[in-house]
Amino acid sequence: MSEVDEKFVIPLKYAGSEPSVWTEYIQMAIDYKPLNLGQGFPDYPPPKYIMDTLAKVSNESDYMLHQYTRGFGHPRLVRALSKLYSKLIGREINEKTEILTTSGAYEALFSTISGHTDVGDEVIIIEPFFDCYEAMVKYAGGVPRFIPLRLKAVSGRIPTSEDWVLDKEELKSLFNKKTKIIILNTPNNPLGKVYSLEELTFIADLCKKWNVLCISDEVYEWLVYKPHKHIRMATLPDMWKRTVTIGSAGKTFSVTGWKVGWAYCPENLMRNIQMVHQNTVYTGVTPIQEAVAIAFETEMDRLGKEDCFFVSLAKDLESKRDYMANVLSEVGMKPTIPDGGYFMLADWSALESKVDVSSESDQYKDYRFTKWMTKKVGLQGIPPTVFYSTPNKHLAENFVRFCFIKKHETLKQAEDILKRWKTTEN
Ligand code: PMP
Ligand code: GLN
Repeated sequence: MSEVDEKFVIPLKYAGSEPSVWTEYIQMAIDYKPLNLGQGFPDYPPPKYIMDTLAKVSNESDYMLHQYTRGFGHPRLVRALSKLYSKLIGREINEKTEILTTSGAYEALFSTISGHTDVGDEVIIIEPFFDCYEAMVKYAGGVPRFIPLRLKAVSGRIPTSEDWVLDKEELKSLFNKKTKIIILNTPNNPLGKVYSLEELTFIADLCKKWNVLCISDEVYEWLVYKPHKHIRMATLPDMWKRTVTIGSAGKTFSVTGWKVGWAYCPENLMRNIQMVHQNTVYTGVTPIQEAVAIAFETEMDRLGKEDCFFVSLAKDLESKRDYMANVLSEVGMKPTIPDGGYFMLADWSALESKVDVSSESDQYKDYRFTKWMTKKVGLQGIPPTVFYSTPNKHLAENFVRFCFIKKHETLKQAEDILKRWKTTEN
């Protein structure tokens, strides 16, 4: 190792970090041009009025819309968020002290985890989990403790995300005096599990018993399919005071490139989060926050009605979900039907004889399979072992994650590709 290489190894707190699945698979999508059902984003525009908000803001002569805005959140956006969530949570949320806007939900997660984790604190993470949680906890010096959702045995029907359950005794056994945080993600990425009131109450009771903070990642809060309902952890009895809730404009308005997120919680919990934010990001992008505020103001007037974007998007996605699930079932990949979100896991092990992954050298089978599928079949999905801790990765090796927030033509193309592959002789 050269003198320079030796000195400039990655600092100890980041040791073990490798390029993430996103870095690698987005590059593969550029290189091989598969049909991309990998990274989660729509391949069609959001409603015109949402795009128009940005056009309107960019043409504003008010020079302040093009300069730094308030560091803890653009005033018009925190006002809109306060109005919306006060209604949804059933308590007044102070726009100045209880809401922070961030650079996507990623930064909300980072500032919350960093602002609340001390060296040696234990943080419970439910698997499968959005992959950055583990890295963020480790960077903060925390100790992740994992617990997987397990697929119950189901016969005579296709499993749904509701069939993936926590073992209550196992969860109980993870809580102890060192436990500081539990990270919850409902609806969950990648499974689409929408936690029931009973499941949330069980988690909430443990949080209260052990004085633990719940970080509730609810970025897919509007993407819930009937008859399921999204329940906000902060609305459970006595949970407001120990919950930080995280949201994302990218998911809410189908504009993932806008990268505006937020966190809301009581003032005392918010102070720690603000401290991390003010010395890292400091202030979000002004015109985009203004545009998101206008979009929220528009939806607020028709919340829950048929013409509300949040209602129509979930409806559109439900039929895309069903289409995708049928296609996967027909070709022999066993899907888990998601009750929320826009991802679907499918078990491809029945097709193993049609797969030749000898050209791929990755440790985990799902990586070898998805790389082979990207290059040889022309379809990209995400290997779900990325959503598991090392000891539990084996639970996901037979699965692939597909994103279904895509135009009908794209889903039809996926169908054609899969059916062609299925009927090709080995
Ligand atoms: N949490 C989850 C569960 C997600 O799937 C995502 C998707 N990127 C994020 C947080 C981050 O959201 P954003 O794009 O707003 O940073
Ligand atoms: N949340 C999105 C997904 O799971 C995007 C993730 C990312 O780009 N890092 O696909």
